[in-house]
Amino acid sequence: MNPPSLSLKAHREEAVVRGHPWIFSGALQAPVPSLTAGSIVDVYDVDDHFLGRGYYHPDTDIAIRILTHDPEEAIDAAFFARRIRAALALRSPIIGTETDCYRLINAEGDFLPGVIVDRYAETLVVQISTAGMDRLQTELIMALVNVARPQGIVMRNDVSVRAREGLPRERARIAWGQASPLVEVHEQGMRFMVDVMNGQKTGFFLDQRDKRAALRKYAPGKRVLNAFSYTGGFGIAALLAGAEQVTSIDQSAPIIAQAREQFAINGFDPDAHVFAVGDAFAYLEEQANAGTQYDIVVLDPPAFSKTQHQRPQALRAYRRLNGLGLRVLAPGGLLVTCSCSGSVTLADFQSAIVEAAVQHGRALQSAEIFTHGLDHPTLMAMSESGYLKVLFCRNGSA
Ligand code: SAH
Repeated sequence: MNPPSLSLKAHREEAVVRGHPWIFSGALQAPVPSLTAGSIVDVYDVDDHFLGRGYYHPDTDIAIRILTHDPEEAIDAAFFARRIRAALALRSPIIGTETDCYRLINAEGDFLPGVIVDRYAETLVVQISTAGMDRLQTELIMALVNVARPQGIVMRNDVSVRAREGLPRERARIAWGQASPLVEVHEQGMRFMVDVMNGQKTGFFLDQRDKRAALRKYAPGKRVLNAFSYTGGFGIAALLAGAEQVTSIDQSAPIIAQAREQFAINGFDPDAHVFAVGDAFAYLEEQANAGTQYDIVVLDPPAFSKTQHQRPQALRAYRRLNGLGLRVLAPGGLLVTCSCSGSVTLADFQSAIVEAAVQHGRALQSAEIFTHGLDHPTLMAMSESGYLKVLFCRNGSA
């Protein structure tokens, strides 16, 4: 039996035809049948051509998220298995050789809106953000078990965006099999202990994998400041590549304690390095006033804006932070500056950094620019799905 059908108004199909998976409520022809949140629906254009099959929400601006463009494809465990196999194929260049932790499913970017799945060795961590995907979780888990063959699956449905869809914020829980709360993972010769039940995001910043790797070639013999360090990822990458000394600063004392442990399990004596708990802005200012200099400064703050409305204040914060970073950066040194604010574009971010450089009399050379790694694919037809920008710039005014 086919799912209920909904039709778009005239001329509203263009984005879907191009491959954008969202249909806004204003594009739907009235009367829209009364359907519960998460119902599977078929979408047609005004001339009754099939456009796609997806899930519907009666109360959100995004009324439908498309799951398939194939009218014959049922949304069942086999559908999820096909999507997961395709996701594994895309990631095959890094799986096993580079790392045993990576994002396995990146929502829309892997044609599965509303869910991310991260792999930490034998443990999968699943986060569901929409009512439609919530209703499909049995099929999703069955397919993950069969195709990805984990030992355990942890559900991290503890994110606030779920409220928009009328979903409860749940506690982290084991949804299938067995999982230890602290999982050891390996990435390019580094070891990390990941707190899959309580850690930020799903426990680790998988999205910085390729940037951690890129940093290595600059690191031998260098003094590194890792601001907003979380559990120390960039610092450990630099040390393994031969950095002389690493300073890690984060506002959270338990996180800095984990960073120290992480140094130790990678064979570096935490007491030979500097760990500071506090506000990175204040710390940078203190260091700048004291005349301290670093050869590499990594700035990886949390998102300063989640909405367009907060964009101007986010840009001011990036200018200020990067200005402070430049004050402690030695001539010829490397600034690694990150932005994970979705509403700030690469061009916006780049101009904020230039303004900070001008203010402090620096001329920056762009060495390398990164976005997401290959395990965080985005849809070409959906420009808003990328969020991460990372600039490696040389302090050229030596
Ligand atoms: N670079 C990290 C991820 C950083 S996430 C990695 O690659 O693993 C952002 C971090 O900034 C979080 O750990 C959070 O605790 C910390 N943080 C947030 N606001 C801060 C502030 N004002 N000063 C210092 N740390 C802050």
